[in-house]
Amino acid sequence: MSTQSVPARAAWVGAAGQLPLPWLARPVAQALAHRGHALLVHGPQGVGQFEVALVLAQSWLCEARTGPDQHACGQCEACRLVQAGTHPDLLILVPQALREVLGLSALGVDDNEAAAGGTSKKPSAGGREIRVADVRQAIDWGHQTSSRSQGKVLVLYPAQNLNRVAANALLKTLEEPTGSLRLVLSTFDVQALLPTLTSRCQRLAMSVPERQLAQAWLREQGLNEPEILLAGAGGRPQEVLAMVRDGLDGRLWPALPAAVRRGRADMLMGLPIPRVVDVLQKVCVDLMSRSQGAQAQFFPSEALPEGASPLGLAAWWRQLQRTARHEDHPWNADLLIESLVLQGRQCWLAPDKAKPHVC
Ligand SMILES: [Zn+2]
Repeated sequence: MSTQSVPARAAWVGAAGQLPLPWLARPVAQALAHRGHALLVHGPQGVGQFEVALVLAQSWLCEARTGPDQHACGQCEACRLVQAGTHPDLLILVPQALREVLGLSALGVDDNEAAAGGTSKKPSAGGREIRVADVRQAIDWGHQTSSRSQGKVLVLYPAQNLNRVAANALLKTLEEPTGSLRLVLSTFDVQALLPTLTSRCQRLAMSVPERQLAQAWLREQGLNEPEILLAGAGGRPQEVLAMVRDGLDGRLWPALPAAVRRGRADMLMGLPIPRVVDVLQKVCVDLMSRSQGAQAQFFPSEALPEGASPLGLAAWWRQLQRTARHEDHPWNADLLIESLVLQGRQCWLAPDKAKPHVC
């Protein structure tokens, strides 16, 4: 299920010393307990691993911490430079396509990149990769003397977007750190990383936050009844915001399985194709779970129509997976969405003879 639930923007420890997300206290404390020069923060997409990487970087650079296990103060000159995006010893490498989404341009990361030798403004590979040229320039930057007192920090996110050549270029630095450089890699697809890369980092695994903390935070973000979409997002609060940004509505969410049962695609029209595939995969997974006597995960169980054929669900699942693999192709979106929903409808129409709907 590949959707783009990146954080809305980069966020730091604030001036009052508050963490950017309320459930980060434990993972940040765990991150600070690591004493190595390279940490890999990983976990499901949408639980705040990028924020943990940023808070860790800020904490390493903070000049007024009361101890090595304390996070950044949020008030000292170094913290203010980090918050403003102008700290000379912090470099954040993200793919070009993410820079604006994360608000990093506004935070002055381009200035840091200029300090790193000036990376190209041209997008490449769809702008989704962290390129080898950028990694090499970051390593050169890491060799330079730090401007302030706390060494230098390089953050890479999402680390699975390092292409193979870029990852190989990073290996030597991970094995033999240069001077005062420390690295934080953050990823939501740790399986996609080279084993040679993960083995050179200390690792911090994040999981979904406590439900009550996540719900309270989502209410602060303006969601009235976040419980339903939080379940629909598998407990990942940032993913809930991404679902809302894509056009999903918590009040309509429970009606989606019945809409598929009736072959009605209108609720999904206008959503990005990866999001449509993600939603339909969740409907399919929940129906398969229920047919095997297991609990539904994403939808209230009463929202799932009875009588779907397991064979039909298996065929629908394969169709959805094929679509997910080709989701960058220039589909006719409306026709594709209708086709995927009609394939889902087959699960109820011809239980023993369900065949993939050809689109
Ligand atoms: Zn500080």
